[in-house]
Amino acid sequence: METLISKCKSAKKPLVVAGCVPQGSRDLKELEGVSIVGVQQIDRVVEVVEETLKGHEVRLLTRKTLPALDLPKVRKNKFIEILPINVGCLGACTYCKTKHARGHLGSYTVDSLVDRIRTVMADGVKEIWLSSEDTGAYGRDIGVNLPILLNAIVAELPPDRSTMLRIGMTNPPFILEHLKDIAKVLCHPCVYSFLHVPVQSGSDSVLSAMNREYNVGEFRTVVNTLSQLVPGMQIATDIICGFPGETDEDFAQTVSLINEYKFPQVHISQFYPRPGTPAARMKKVPSNVVKNRSRELTSVFESFSPYQGMEGRVEKIWITEIATDGVHLVGHTKGYVQVLVAAPESMLGTSTDVKITSVGRWSVFAEVIQTPDRRKEDTKSIGNESIPNKCFPSSELEETCSCAVQSCEREDTLCKSTIQLDNSRLEDHNRRNVIGWFLRKRKVHGAAKMKGHLLESKVKQQTEGRSIGNLGFTDWALLGGMLLSSLTIVALLLLLGFRTLSSK
Ligand code: SF4
Repeated sequence: METLISKCKSAKKPLVVAGCVPQGSRDLKELEGVSIVGVQQIDRVVEVVEETLKGHEVRLLTRKTLPALDLPKVRKNKFIEILPINVGCLGACTYCKTKHARGHLGSYTVDSLVDRIRTVMADGVKEIWLSSEDTGAYGRDIGVNLPILLNAIVAELPPDRSTMLRIGMTNPPFILEHLKDIAKVLCHPCVYSFLHVPVQSGSDSVLSAMNREYNVGEFRTVVNTLSQLVPGMQIATDIICGFPGETDEDFAQTVSLINEYKFPQVHISQFYPRPGTPAARMKKVPSNVVKNRSRELTSVFESFSPYQGMEGRVEKIWITEIATDGVHLVGHTKGYVQVLVAAPESMLGTSTDVKITSVGRWSVFAEVIQTPDRRKEDTKSIGNESIPNKCFPSSELEETCSCAVQSCEREDTLCKSTIQLDNSRLEDHNRRNVIGWFLRKRKVHGAAKMKGHLLESKVKQQTEGRSIGNLGFTDWALLGGMLLSSLTIVALLLLLGFRTLSSK
């Protein structure tokens, strides 16, 4: 950021800096002489730009009202709406810089959020992610609470389960009061049975130094209650390694907590002092110790096999994106387990039944099941789509989190890296999968390469004892096409040869 700012300044370009950093650290030397707009004034960015272009320096940081929910927006994923339900929080964690930028809790009203839900569903959104610094604190400033909001939202979701709700990250203190109500909502067919509850440490003395306002026992209550009341409940958590004052004993308690619950997702970060926070003034744990603890915890976490035993299970999944391999689509089960499935892009934004074929460390692989509904949809779409329905196997019937050291982008990064980490399994999976081979066309160009894959696929099929008669319509069509091309080339060569001979 410093580099960009000085580059713009030396090029004498008008410059506006927006977001959390100017909001939380407005007195930074680098921001001198630059227009800045804070997180709560983002709807005034046009004014700020216009004034800056006129040569004025503008500083818009404080405000009493919340920015409108319906600001113009370009979604990163057109099927997903990230909907902030409030800004700020009621916490005062000693390591947190976010609080400096986001400030005290400011909740949107239930009505305004429900209106927004209706609008985004009309836009074609299929997943709504509620985001907040602390979802559990929602509404305390305006006399409502999270269960009231959640019940109002689920009442709007279509009963055909075409739109799903994902509840955002929450700290333990405020949801403790509403655990049963939250559990009921998490059981709703249109709500993912998934919650991100950052514990940060397994030691009460470290939690107290962090000023987290709960203890490990309360965190356990949250996890145990939700796990008991919500079938298939998945909980993700965060850990900060090497917080000032963390002893070996404190760290051992963290390791044992993670080992006990074997959470499917743990975001592990090393403590990093944020300037201006109380924790930055505390005595640091030596950095080699912090690194070693983070490594140790990471290897403990990576040794878990959270999805073992899912093979063969039939699950409904909601598909929203293309995997980084360009072949698979990414869907999620009701428990928000990441599923990689070889399927056409036309299935983005839909839900389907799949059968889990194998499991990886970070995700599972599945095949789409040809249910009667699915068959109908495929037949309907066959006229418009380039991938016919026969490419499905017909024989088988299956945050915004500022509340940790890192930001919500981390979740996205985690998703991406998990897909990449499973890439070697994925390649292997593709080699064994006729649909995978077909869909690789999205990525692999050139007839020669396609021919190679076809042969490889055929060899695999024969090795697995499948008969050629199992080839689908698409396979036959491609084989026929290739044969026709070869015959045409031969005919042209013969014609050319004939003409050359006759001209002599
Ligand atoms: S860590 Fe989360 S709850 Fe704590 S002060 Fe920061 S934003 Fe608030």
